[in-house]
Amino acid sequence: MSKECLVEKINISCPFCEKDHMLEKRKRVTQGIVKGEIVDYEEFFYLCPITNEEENEFVPAALMDENLLRARDAYRKLKGLLTSDEIAEIRKFYEVTQNEFSNLLGWGDVTVARYESKNIQDETYDSIMRMARENPLFTLQSLEKHKAMFTEDKYRKIKQKVVERVEESAIQYLKKQEINSIYVNFKEENEYNGYKILDLDKVAKVIGYFAQSVINLFKVKLMKLLWYADALHFRRYGKAMTGLVYKHMTYGALPLAYDEIIHLPTVKIEEKIICDEISYKILPNKKINVSDFTAEELNVLDTILAKFKNYNSKEIVEYMHKERAYKETEPYSIISFHISKELRELR
Ligand SMILES: [Zn+2]
Repeated sequence: MSKECLVEKINISCPFCEKDHMLEKRKRVTQGIVKGEIVDYEEFFYLCPITNEEENEFVPAALMDENLLRARDAYRKLKGLLTSDEIAEIRKFYEVTQNEFSNLLGWGDVTVARYESKNIQDETYDSIMRMARENPLFTLQSLEKHKAMFTEDKYRKIKQKVVERVEESAIQYLKKQEINSIYVNFKEENEYNGYKILDLDKVAKVIGYFAQSVINLFKVKLMKLLWYADALHFRRYGKAMTGLVYKHMTYGALPLAYDEIIHLPTVKIEEKIICDEISYKILPNKKINVSDFTAEELNVLDTILAKFKNYNSKEIVEYMHKERAYKETEPYSIISFHISKELRELR
């Protein structure tokens, strides 16, 4: 019913030829029925390219289980439920085992293990797990309520991690409020925000993407990369990417609320003392997927990375000092995107 494609060639035991040889692992989109609903999902199977038998495909038990998991995940997506991977991600966010996460939420020992492998959660269970992800305080309250499920040691260890998550989320909430109040004068599209209203999710994703692509990323360099990404996006499409507003400062363009934006949830900050000065190293906190960006945005980000990836902070600052946008803006003034687009080299 749909196009097949080759995943890999692998030397395993062939049930048709009754010996080991090269088999093709293939996949195709197929339909299955889960809980009475028809779903499309990717099915993997092995194919023997040499047998003369009419039947030349087979699916060993382990692969069958994976196929079933994909069919159930397709059903979950259809119904707006968390997928098995998403459930595992929430659990790992609190660094607990399946058993512990289950008990923490007040459920039986194996409930979460089943949701991560074969059973489909109903909506009540789904919304409890979502709540645990979105609100660490809810998770903390749930842990306290089900304290009796754990030994004192276990309880303390889990609580420590959950409290850490509570603190982080409180900081992130406050940082977002601070950023929004600093940007209160830029609620309209204009030349200073590049005709784009500040999009904090996008800022977080762009920072996360830079953090996972550049090995030694420090604050000064990150700020220049952000400006170049916005300037190049504006040059190409007449609109900035993030909505950040930049000022002319000693070390080049610097976005308003620069101290707050590095506390967005996609990055973590490591303080480092270099030559008696505190530097902030930016590290990725969670994986950013390329699907979080449009093709145009991704191309802009990759163009900026290709140019500046190996520049150190000093080099990128010196490079930026020669941009018209920098030279023609008064110190401490906001840089207009109308000159930002006059980039020296980037197209
Ligand atoms: Zn064979």
